[in-house]
This record gives sequence, structure tokens and C-alpha cells, in this order.
Amino acid sequence: MKNIKLNESLAALKPSPIRTFNDSISGIEGIIRLTIGEPDYPTPRFIKDAAIDSIDKSFNGYSHSRGLIELREVISQYMDRKYGLTYSATEEIIVTVGATEALFSTFYALLNKGEKIITPSPHYAVYGTQVGLAGGVFVPVDVTNDDFILTPERLEATLAEHPETKALLFNYPSNPTGVTYTAEQLQALAEVIKQHDIFVISDEIYSELTFDGKHTSIAQYIPDQTIVINGASKSHSMTGWRMGFICGPSWVISEIFKVHQSAINAPSTQAQYAVIKGYAEGDDAIEEMRQGYIERRDLLVAGFEKLGFELAAPQGAFYLFIKVPAWFDGDGYEFATKLAHEAKVGVVPGSAFGEAGKNHFRLSYAASTEKLTEALNRITAFVEANN
Ligand code: PLP
Repeated sequence: MKNIKLNESLAALKPSPIRTFNDSISGIEGIIRLTIGEPDYPTPRFIKDAAIDSIDKSFNGYSHSRGLIELREVISQYMDRKYGLTYSATEEIIVTVGATEALFSTFYALLNKGEKIITPSPHYAVYGTQVGLAGGVFVPVDVTNDDFILTPERLEATLAEHPETKALLFNYPSNPTGVTYTAEQLQALAEVIKQHDIFVISDEIYSELTFDGKHTSIAQYIPDQTIVINGASKSHSMTGWRMGFICGPSWVISEIFKVHQSAINAPSTQAQYAVIKGYAEGDDAIEEMRQGYIERRDLLVAGFEKLGFELAAPQGAFYLFIKVPAWFDGDGYEFATKLAHEAKVGVVPGSAFGEAGKNHFRLSYAASTEKLTEALNRITAFVEANN
């Protein structure tokens, strides 16, 4: 073996803690895994048909690097229909390879070396690794004691403490907590942000899975400072199709585009044809899935509350973020490990979402009612045996 050195900064990069834990319990026979955040519903038929049609018609070429113009127009109409936001299809929207690429291209375009991204924590684990890869510094802000919500006061204090901040990054409804922000809470944060030369990167990938009210985008209050990230993965049950998008002010989008074009060129043309239908005609299909998630949430919340567990407010996405009960001697990692081996139910330790999550565990209810009911029965037996 030659002594060739690779990029040494990668040594600090750890594999996804969710996948690592998931793999570690995958050998347990008969386990019900409520670990991965992936819709179990099939992609709606009319969306699949649009992809098949594009293949049959031999639409084999690259699309425009910003994405098919028809798709960008449909996304523009979608943002207007949902939030009254106006984005130019030619200047202010890029179609990306999932929200993952949208986030990375955004970080890369925004960050000079050493600039900071602050985010309320527990947070989606990929944020930290991506910010690091893009040369930035990731600053998680523990919000467990504020019902998992970043308050304007906390934001103000964090910005004072970290003057190198380039952007606030947040995600609502939240992975991992399921908590979301009201219009009033977003407006109050926007008032603070307006006073600073920073951006908001608003990861709204679960926007369609808001259960107790309508989703509001912070871009409705500060469009000039907001970069909205969204996509079809969760809303249209299309994780594997890798369809995301970015909307923002044209002078920022044009810089993000440079990164996107250099690294990606364009996402799959067939997936783009499919998702045109998804955004133009998908509202009923989305609503049907949303109702399904609400039923599952209600089933689980009732079950966990009956067992005396303390939960973050489960307002959206498809996660419950549950506090390790006082009777258990250990943290979220130890609880999840014991639950996997003894109850044969797989959940994710809260520490996978930052230090702030270490006394919790996350459960994904993107699974059938039958599976969830069986998991609840097993957890009930586990609690009775251990408490
Ligand atoms: N942002 C959050 C908060 C997520 O939970 C996920 C996926 O789990 C993503 C982004 C990535 O989405 P995509 O599959 O569209 O890349």
C-alpha cells in the first residue's frame, strides 16, 4: 500500500449515528424497528405513472441545471398556494437531489472558513457534519428546557455570544422532536433576525406533516433573509427519488447554484417529471397520508401517556421524542439498547441528535398501525417487567 494521505479533515467525521445504531440492532430476531425516518406509504400511483411516461417517451437527457423549468414553475405555484410566497421560477428556485443536497449546497455557498451556523438542538444529525465539511463551525443550542423551541430571547443571547454567526438553521416540524412553531413564534424570531446581518436556513421538509394547525414558513416574515429548503421525500413518500428544492433571494440562489452546478449538474430527469405531478396534483394524496399519520400519532401518544412517559409535543413530522423514565437507571442509549434486546422494539437514542438529546429516545411512527400496536404491547410488557 502506498503511503498516500487522503483528506485528513474527514477523520473527524463520524458515520450517521442513526444508521450505526440501527445496524447494531438489526440482527435481533423479530425486532420491530421504529428507527428510520422514512414514510412507509407507497409513492402515489399518478406520480409513478408520470415517471414511467417520461421513460417511455425517452426523455433521457440532462435537464437544465436549475431543474426542469416546468417543475420550477410548479414549485413556484406551490409556494404561492401554500404560503402566499412569490419566487421566480428562473431566478429564485433550484431543484436539488433531496433536501440533503439543498442543505449542503447552501452551507457551502454561505460559509467562509470559521463562520458559524447556530441551530436549536436536539437537531437532525447531518447538519453538523455538513457544516463541518463546508468549512463552518456548528453551534447547537440546547433547547430541551424551553419545550424544544428556540425563543427570541435565546436567539438574541446566542447571537451576542457568537458574533461570527452566518445563519440560524432550523427545522419545523422537527426531526427528532415532532415539535413545530406557531406563526406568532416565527414572527417573533423574525423580528430578532431582521436586526442582524444573518440568514435563516429554514428546513421545512416536514411542512406537509403538520397535525394541529397550518404550517407557516418564516419566509412569510423575512423573505429577503430566508433560504427555504423543502422536498418531496416526506410529503409525497418519495425518499428514494431524491427530489428537493431551495427557494431564496436571487443573489443568494445564484451563488448556491454555482455549488449545485459544479457538484451535481442536475437531478434525475425522470424523478423531476414525476414530482411535477406531485406538486401540481398531490394535495389530496398528501392529505390522505397526513390523516394516517395523525391516527398513528394519536394511538401512540395515548399508549405512552398511559404508561407514564413524558413526551415532546407531538405536533408534526412522524416522530415521538420521549424522555427516559425516572425509574430507568441510565440514559437514552442504554434505554434504547435494553428495549431493543428485551422488548424487541428498535428506537433511536436521543444522543444521535446531539448531546441535548441524551436523556430521550426517538421513535418513528412511519410504520403500519399493526406494527405500532404490537410495539406498544411489547413496550407495555417491558415497562411492567422493569418498573
Ligand atoms: N432535513 C431533515 C430534518 C430530515 O429529517 C431529513 C431526512 O430525514 C432531511 C432533511 C433529508 O431529506 P432528503 O431525503 O430529501 O434528502
